[in-house]
Amino acid sequence: MKLTTNSIEETQTIAKLIAPKLKGGDILLLRGDLGAGKTTLTKALCEALGVKEDVTSPTFTIVNEYNGKYKVNHFDMYRVNSIMEAMEFGFDEMIRDRDSINIIEWPEVVMDILPSEVIDMEIKRIDNNSREITISGVEL
Ligand code: ADP
Ligand code: MG
Repeated sequence: MKLTTNSIEETQTIAKLIAPKLKGGDILLLRGDLGAGKTTLTKALCEALGVKEDVTSPTFTIVNEYNGKYKVNHFDMYRVNSIMEAMEFGFDEMIRDRDSINIIEWPEVVMDILPSEVIDMEIKRIDNNSREITISGVEL
């Protein structure tokens, strides 16, 4: 399914549609170029999941953990160069925790160790304020 958002507010609306469909153990892949809106969508999803903390990009820490209606693990794999590196910080155990929702930016490096059932989202920048989001793995 393809959705278009023309503002941050519309991206938040999309997050509010997705959030109620999520449950513990889910894995969401967020693909798209730098600046596409992966972190912005993650913030909106966390908010919609009842996370009260400030959600920031985990580019340097690789993973931030939040608590809302569920535990939310927000990964940014941009600086992770191999599956081995991901294993070293416990990635594979974290994503198998049935209590957590796992949101993964730049998931390409770990594709081979992900379960087959994931929610895949690709964000494309159309112009300054517009983004096209292609979603599969969840019925909205
Ligand atoms: P990424 O994590 O993919 O690198 P970010 O979420 O950090 O991207 O940055 C996306 C940028 O695009 C932010 O500055 C955000 O304000 C801007 N933006 C503009 N329009 C939108 C929109 N409709 N949805 C999401 N982000 C948008
Ligand atoms: Mg980001």
